[in-house]
Amino acid sequence: MAVDPLIELRDVNKYYGELHVLQDIDLTVGKGEVVVVIGPSGSGKSTLCRTINRLETVQSGEIRLDGQPLPQEGKALARLRTEVGMVFQSFNLFAHKTVLQNVSLAQIKVRGRKKDEADKRSRELLERVGLATHAGKYPAQLSGGQQQRVAIARALAMDPKALLFDEPTSALDPEMINEVLEVMRQLANEGMTMVVVTHEMGFARSAANRVVFMADGRIVEDRAPEDFFTHPESERARDFLSKIL
Ligand code: ADP
Ligand code: MG
Repeated sequence: MAVDPLIELRDVNKYYGELHVLQDIDLTVGKGEVVVVIGPSGSGKSTLCRTINRLETVQSGEIRLDGQPLPQEGKALARLRTEVGMVFQSFNLFAHKTVLQNVSLAQIKVRGRKKDEADKRSRELLERVGLATHAGKYPAQLSGGQQQRVAIARALAMDPKALLFDEPTSALDPEMINEVLEVMRQLANEGMTMVVVTHEMGFARSAANRVVFMADGRIVEDRAPEDFFTHPESERARDFLSKIL
């Protein structure tokens, strides 16, 4: 089935000094696709996410979002960047703002929405992530799982075309992981385009359209989850899976 591409990386190379951190990366994420990225620590997964959002520059190659080349800088970049939301391992909420303010702030400052309109949208999204009754609380009054769900609501508030998740459950206590994965599954079912770096193989098996396995800055495998987990082709992937499964 041919899907309309939303995120396209062509022959992308990035260096940190001598370190060739992304090597000849070719990756297409179609509209509505969920791509799980896995691989050993240091393989370039976070760099890949930041590159897609142009939080990092690259030395060569092309990155397109919905057919448009990502601008290098300026207002056009700022606008495009808001079209891809990002959710990090460390929730990055504003500690001195309420949950509602956390979700509304960028809508007002970046999207130019009126406060009432932003707050209305925030309440809808908080309802969607199961936190409607927590709008007036501060982040420190919430569990890690709840804070991460606020971070997801905040990302959704910008009406992004795609969401990038960089190990969204890695900082959570085990009993809170599922409530976050559940919200992510629901988004996937609703057709959100998602790139998810995670060690949660259950999520990869059940929610991903494709698994991308990275090692040493390269994409080593890019396959359907069932194929990947049952018949990993590369030695690197077999070795990785034997350590985590
Ligand atoms: P992963 O997310 O897969 O663990 P990263 O993308 O964080 O990997 O890092 C890939 C490699 O790039 C690692 O060797 C890491 O040490 C290095 N690296 C990451 N960020 C920087 C940076 N800002 N400056 C220099 N090296 C970096
Ligand atoms: Mg990382």
